[in-house]
Amino acid sequence: MPSLDPAQRQLGDMDADAFRRHAAAVTELIARYLEDVASRPVVPAVEPGQLRAALPSAPPAEPEPFEALLADFDRLILPNATHWQHPGFLAYFPSNTSGPGILGEYLAAALNVNAMLWRTGPSATELEQVALDWLRQLIGLPEGFMGTINDTASSSTLYALAAAREAAPELRIRQEGLAGRPDIPAMRVYCSEDAHSSVDKAVVTLGLGLSGVWRVPMDDDYRLDVRALERAIASDRARGVRPIAVVATVGTTSTTAIDPVPAIADICERERLWLHVDAAYGGSAAVVPAMRWVMDGTGRADSLVVNPHKWLFTPLDCSALFTRRPDVLRRAFSLTPEYLATSLGDDVLNLMDYGVSLGRRFRALKLWFVLRYFGASGLEARVAEHIRLGQLFREWVDASPAFERLAPAPFSVVVFRWHPPGLDDGAALDAANARLLERVNATGEAFLSHTRAKGRYAIRLAVGNIRTREEHVRRAWELLQELAGE
Ligand code: PLP
Repeated sequence: MPSLDPAQRQLGDMDADAFRRHAAAVTELIARYLEDVASRPVVPAVEPGQLRAALPSAPPAEPEPFEALLADFDRLILPNATHWQHPGFLAYFPSNTSGPGILGEYLAAALNVNAMLWRTGPSATELEQVALDWLRQLIGLPEGFMGTINDTASSSTLYALAAAREAAPELRIRQEGLAGRPDIPAMRVYCSEDAHSSVDKAVVTLGLGLSGVWRVPMDDDYRLDVRALERAIASDRARGVRPIAVVATVGTTSTTAIDPVPAIADICERERLWLHVDAAYGGSAAVVPAMRWVMDGTGRADSLVVNPHKWLFTPLDCSALFTRRPDVLRRAFSLTPEYLATSLGDDVLNLMDYGVSLGRRFRALKLWFVLRYFGASGLEARVAEHIRLGQLFREWVDASPAFERLAPAPFSVVVFRWHPPGLDDGAALDAANARLLERVNATGEAFLSHTRAKGRYAIRLAVGNIRTREEHVRRAWELLQELAGE
């Protein structure tokens, strides 16, 4: 029978011996989980509310043995989790973890520094600069970009657009806000129809309203149409609307399209607009030298986001925001209450000045571990293999008379549908593909997601998981073929 640790009957923390014992058990559990994750169904057969009903509704009045917690983790939490680390997880974009990333996170939790100021986290502050400068080099961004780590790309994009708004200091928005000011024109941010919804959320948060986003039509390859962008900007200016920023995407969520960043950068320079590049997914591909072209023009951006927690094997959360104009980002957010003032003043980097959060986790540690453990060559080899597997799947789809690809596949994501000869009714195809996706996912062997490509229901297969090998992609293809039309 598990018993309480002596420390649980006293004040203070778990003692060192108990920690060693429990940590060893957790380590074993993690190693076993990652070793066996492929044997679990990717998505659990659980109904909403089921887990909640299985757990006590009130907290324990008395201490419980750690073994009991671990046993419940094994019995209740694991089987009711969606297994993002499963090699058959081919949905959305990957959200990868890795051994070095997990261990970095473990150590970060042990130190638990709060790097709001340099003084409160010297190593966390400086390592963040070093790790992000390494990442900058790995993805081929030029010198002159400063990086900070945020929780998500949604936060990074919010901060970038806050900086874009702040880049017009004569509007005095930071001081006076927007509400009740007839002197402030309506403002506009432009992005493609397929740009991520985080742009809308940012604009809502910044007080510009959803009508402050103009979604520019796309060309046949789902890329922002530059001529349409120019027309939209000109028409807005003629009506007294003030354009402030363009968000270009390198790897859209729906089809992984790459907007024509060099041409968009020309427009932004001419029109004096902030250019933010959302490379949350696609930026990671640039660790492969043959894929560097995806970053063309991004060196001219004012800001760029790339998420190591998607495709660079770093556990959630780790989103890198780079900017060539850190002074403007800082102007948007810096604010020092008396209790945080230090004698070092502005001579040091205080990360709290670059976003909404005061407190900052030591996220750089896990990224630093990942970059060092795999090295540039290891990251390149893994991402290149994912691209190879994605392209292999694309070839299978292209060669099949019963399937059709609905978008270019520049990375490792393929957007396609079942379309057998003779079945041409759009609604029937949509319904048949939705059913096919459900059937494939119900097998528990693979998990794919969907999108709409120019209105058509499309299945979307995304390779990017560190554990995915050719056999897993092949199995997904077999399942799609077997279950299509059933
Ligand atoms: N940008 C793109 C292109 C995305 O695909 C996503 C999410 O998948 C995001 C931004 C938002 O990412 P996060 O979950 O880090 O906010």
